[in-house]
Order: sequence, then structure tokens, then C-alpha cells
Amino acid sequence: MWYSFVDVEIHLENIVKNFLFLQESCSSLVPVIKADAYGHGLIPVARALTHAGAKAFAVGSVEEGVALRLMPFEGDIISLLGPVEQRDFKLICEYNIIPFVYHFEQIENLGEIAKRQCPVALKFDTGMARLGFTEKDIPRIIDKLRFYSNLELKIVASHLALADSVENDFVLEQVKRFNNICQMLTQAGFKFKKSLANSAGILAWPETYYDFARPGIALYGGNPFWGTNWQEKGVSLRPAMKVRAPLVNVRSLSKGETISYGRTFRAPSDMKVGIVAVGYADNYSRSLSNKGWVVIKDKRCPIIGRVCMQMMAVDITGIQSIERGDMAYLLGGRNVSILPEELAEWWNTISYEVFCVLGQNNRIYV
Ligand SMILES: *Cc1c(COP(=O)(O)O)cnc(C)c1O
Repeated sequence: MWYSFVDVEIHLENIVKNFLFLQESCSSLVPVIKADAYGHGLIPVARALTHAGAKAFAVGSVEEGVALRLMPFEGDIISLLGPVEQRDFKLICEYNIIPFVYHFEQIENLGEIAKRQCPVALKFDTGMARLGFTEKDIPRIIDKLRFYSNLELKIVASHLALADSVENDFVLEQVKRFNNICQMLTQAGFKFKKSLANSAGILAWPETYYDFARPGIALYGGNPFWGTNWQEKGVSLRPAMKVRAPLVNVRSLSKGETISYGRTFRAPSDMKVGIVAVGYADNYSRSLSNKGWVVIKDKRCPIIGRVCMQMMAVDITGIQSIERGDMAYLLGGRNVSILPEELAEWWNTISYEVFCVLGQNNRIYV
């Protein structure tokens, strides 16, 4: 954001380490770099992972796939959203992108427009109930694919709804439904790759591995099992994003005085206060008012009062030698760190959203 003092440090080497760590469990990974690589930057992340051995990527929109192709990247590019707008069909053919398709109109449009062999990935709904064909659609899918011989069924995929929840039966229920679907298509003579697992699947459910898995959050160091009794499975993942903003003022607040809009915080005793140049205009949520923490000089400091548009106040009472210009870490830190999951909890959201929205600030690759 051009008006912002917030800097986002991206540690690409941690994304590479996370990739290699996940690969120890599941050898075939297609990294998910949708939404600007969860706020980490599509092209820098793709470049780092390509050097680390990634042979294919999954993006969200077709447009993102085009950006990746122009990097340039020669391997397989899967678009998880598939064709949405009319022009996406042309782009898919032109830039050789493998689209997820999940309704018949997409198959028909693509079949009509593709001048040469066009690979497609069929997305099936096995429990997310968001996108995807169901078992009932299979006879008609088979007809369509036989009719449009320019379409090549390359991948059959589905998505897990509850893999980050410990010891639940639904993952295996989805596996069962997915197996059925794959079997029906195999019996009809199709050959294709199968893919089901997300990050949580890779960390905890080997039954979901199939031909390749699609890790997202774990690549960026988010632990899908944080706060559960399977937390251990993801503790060696390293967050790749640190977010910081400078202190623009240091002042005192006398006992009984209030601070910021709405007068929601009253000093219980004499305090020292730091004003940090970050606010909701930098995608740092106002819901962190009186709830969140930052790290300054390796000390955790609580947010006091309301988070404003481009500023907020933190309690720095008792911390020596803090001055204007010192950095407040909103995420990560040096020796003392704020975990993405902690920030997400104060924010009442998940690490995914923290990365996506804070990552929209100015990024620095270190
Ligand atoms: C986002 C996404 C993933 C990655 O999920 P994580 O939980 O971040 O690992 C995998 N597959 C699909 C279809 C997705 O949309």
C-alpha cells in the first residue's frame, strides 16, 4: 500500500524448508500459490519453489495462471477456480493452463473453443458442497468427454472439508466417495492423476495422498493443527512472513486518562505508551482493539484502546530504551515472535486470512 509504513518481510528460504519438510511425508506436491501465494507474492514464491524442485503449481484464477506462465514457467499450471469469465476459456488454451471444471457449461465451452488437445481437471464434490460434480453426473461427463475428443481428462480432484480436525470420520468418508468416483471413471477407460490432500491431509492423513497433494498454508508456515492435540504434526513448519511498523511517538499516560476513540481504555496507573504507524487502512483489523499484541525489542506489548485508520497505541510501560523509530512486530519478530495462529486468534480468524490481507502491504524479500 503506497500510503503505508507497514513492511512485510518474506523469508523465502522458510517456504522452501516447509516444502522440503512436507515432501518427506508426501513425495509428490503441487504447491498452491493462489491469492498471490497467500499474500507472499506469486512470482517470488513460484521462483523459489521451482529452484527447490517444484514441477507444477496450483493457482486460483486463470488470470493468475497466465501471470505464472509469463514468469516464464514451463511446467503444469492448474487453475483451481477454472474458467469463470468468457475470456478465461481462450486464455486456458492460449497459455496451456489446466482448469478445474465443475459444471457442464465449462466442458462444452472448452470443447467448442479448443483448437488442439486441452487437458482438464474434473473437480468432484465429496463433502465441501461448494464446487464439483457428483457421482450422478458421471455418465453425462463420460458422454461429453467422448464427444469432445479435444479435451483430455488429466486430473480428477476433490477437496477435504475437515482434515484439520483431529480424529474425525469425515476425511475417510470423503476418501471413500472419492475412490468410488475414480473407480467409475477408470472403468469407463479413462486414465488420470488423482488428487485430494491439502496441507492438513499431508500432515495427518496418508490415506489422502493419491498421485499428488496440494499444500497451501503449511508452505507458508501455518500449522493447521495449532491448538489441537495434533499440534506436534506441524510444529517444525516455519512462518515465512513477518510484519512490522515503526513507532511514531512515545508518550506518557497518567492514571485515569483514556486513550484513542471511544475512550475504551483507561490507564489503571501511570503508563508509557507507544504509537505505532499501523491501522485498519493497512489491513490490520480494528477488531484487535484492546485484544492484540505486538513485539517491540523482544517484549510483548498489548494494544490499548481502539485501532485507528493508520495508528494504534501499545503499552510499553517498563520497557527500557524504547524510542521513536523502533519497530513493532505485528507478526513474527526477532527472538520473541508472534505466531500467525496467535494473531489470528486475537483477530477472530485463521492464519490464512492474516497472511492474505497483511501480505497486501509493501513486501520486502529477505
Ligand atoms: C486452497 C486450496 C488448497 C490448499 O489448502 P491448504 O489448507 O492451504 O493446504 C488445496 N486445494 C484446493 C482446491 C484449494 O482451494
